[in-house]
Amino acid sequence: MDGSEIAPPPKRVFPPLYTPTGDASLDRLAFFHVLENLKTQKRTGWVDNKIPNAESISDHMYRMAILAMCTSDSTLDVSKCVMMAVVHDLAEAQVGDITPREGISKQEKQRLEAEAMRHFVHGMLHGSPAALRIEALWNEYEEGKTDEARFVKDLDRLEMALQAREYETAHALNLQPFFDSSLPYLRHPEVKRWGEDLAQTRCHSR
Ligand code: ZN
Repeated sequence: MDGSEIAPPPKRVFPPLYTPTGDASLDRLAFFHVLENLKTQKRTGWVDNKIPNAESISDHMYRMAILAMCTSDSTLDVSKCVMMAVVHDLAEAQVGDITPREGISKQEKQRLEAEAMRHFVHGMLHGSPAALRIEALWNEYEEGKTDEARFVKDLDRLEMALQAREYETAHALNLQPFFDSSLPYLRHPEVKRWGEDLAQTRCHSR
């Protein structure tokens, strides 16, 4: 065994923040390009489990948006839920999908993500009304106090469970921890039911 095997994992290096030029058009265009990171960054949980061709962060957000549109709960503002679904992991375009395994504390993760959002909204999008709407939706989700925020959080969990089920089938794996950390925490009655339907198909296939 050589020394490298006991060395701590290398610290993650975050890409430097874009330096706004002050030209609103240029800075906005740079923001549009930053969004590509959501399309290319694979979600860490799958990469850690050596899933080939793992889904990206935006793959995950896209299905959540469609799931939101499938609700029959007329008390929810569905348009808001769809917008919240597609921005809830936006900070990851800067900081990536941070997991506890990396030794980054929950507080530090929150700080890095909030800094990324501030940078996008106020630095790159110059605090425009549209940018402030993105910021408000992101904050609402993070705070988790409104019905919409709690519903979208449930979709976040269910979407992961759906994906876990698909990877189990495609790669003949058992991804039990992904179900244990999602399905029991569902609170919205309809999403809970969707989760139960999923759990049942999983039982039947064993
Ligand atoms: Zn998410």
